[in-house]
Amino acid sequence: SQSELDYPFKLLEYFNGFRVSKVIFSACELGVFNLLLKAQEPISAQHVAQELSCSEDGMERLMDALVGIEILEVETKDGTALYSSSDVANLYLAKGSGKSLHDMIIYQSQTIYPLWNNMADAVREGKNQNEKTFGLPSEDIFKALYRSEEEMLKFMGLMNSSWVLDGHDIVTAFNLSGFQKIVDLGGCTGALAREMAKAWPSSSVTVLDLPQVVEVAQKHFPQEDDAVEFQSGDFFSDEIPPADLYILARIIHDWPEEKCVTLLKKIHDSCRPGGGVLLVEALLFENRRGPVTAQIFSLNMLVQMEGRERPPSEYTRILEKTGFHNVQVCRTGKCYDTILATR
Ligand code: SAM
Repeated sequence: SQSELDYPFKLLEYFNGFRVSKVIFSACELGVFNLLLKAQEPISAQHVAQELSCSEDGMERLMDALVGIEILEVETKDGTALYSSSDVANLYLAKGSGKSLHDMIIYQSQTIYPLWNNMADAVREGKNQNEKTFGLPSEDIFKALYRSEEEMLKFMGLMNSSWVLDGHDIVTAFNLSGFQKIVDLGGCTGALAREMAKAWPSSSVTVLDLPQVVEVAQKHFPQEDDAVEFQSGDFFSDEIPPADLYILARIIHDWPEEKCVTLLKKIHDSCRPGGGVLLVEALLFENRRGPVTAQIFSLNMLVQMEGRERPPSEYTRILEKTGFHNVQVCRTGKCYDTILATR
C-alpha cells in the first residue's frame, strides 16, 4: 500500500473536512433531507430546487456531493438523475424523527463554524472568541449564548439532541438504584434527566437551571406526563437543593478550575450522607493520544467557553480536593463518558 509520504491521502481528506461538514449543514439548512423523506420516492434535483426555491445548478451540485459522501443515493432513469435519501439521512438528518440531529447540525453550522474561524486567535490569546465572532462580551458566557430567545432555542436544541445518542448509556453506566432524590444541575431541556427517570423509575428527578432556561424548556421542549420536575436557580449564587445524587453533565468542562471547585464544594455541602455526584463529560486519555472527539471538544471549550476537557485523573483530583471519594470511571465508547463519586 502507498504511504502518506508518497501521497498524502489522509491529509487531503482532513483539509476537506470543513467542506464536507458544510455540504451536510447546507443541505440541512435548506431542508433537502426533510423534502426527500416526505417525497417517499426518488426525485430530481430540479424538483428539489423548485420546492426549496434554489437554483437548479446549485442544488444538483449539492446533491451530487451528498451522493459522493454516501448520504444520498442516485439512479439515472431516461436521462434524469433521481435522488433518494439513505436510511441514515432519514433517521438522523431529517427533522422530526425521535433520533434527529437536525438541531445539533444547525448549531454547528451557525454558531460553532463561525467561532472556529477564529481558532488561531483563540490559541494565541488563550480565550474564547465570542467577542470577535459575534460582537458579544466574553466574560459572561451564558449571557452571550442566550443573547436572544432564538439563540437560546438553538443552544438548547443542541444540548437536547446529544442525549438521543448517548443518554441511555450514560444513565445506565452505574447502578444508581440506591439514589432517591436526583438533581440535574444545569439540566437544560431535561433530556438527560428524563433518560435518568426512565432508567431508575423509583427515583425522583429535578432539573435545576437558570430561570430563563426553565421557561424556554417548558415552553418549547414540553413532555406529556413529564417524569421530571423543573426548578429555577443559579448554581453559583443560590443555594443548592439537598439531594442524594447530583448530575453535572457538561457543566465542569464549561468553567475554569476555581469555579468548578466552588461548585463541587457547594454540592458536597448540600449532598445527603451516602449521596454522590455523577459527572458526564468527554474524557481524554491519560496518555494524551485521544480520543480525537474529546480533544476537539477541548478546543471548542477554548473558542467558546472558559473551560476544557480533562482526563479521569484530573476529575479525580478535583473531586478529591472538594471532599468526594470512591471515584469510579466508566468510558462508554461513545462521545460522552461518566464518573461517579461519593460524598
Ligand atoms: N447538562 C445539560 C446537558 O448536558 O445537556 C446542559 C449542559 S450546557 C453546556 C450548560 C448548562 O448549564 C446550560 O443549560 C446552562 O443554562 C446551565 N447554567 C449555566 N450557568 C448556570 C448557573 N449559574 N446556574 C444554573 N445553571 C446554569
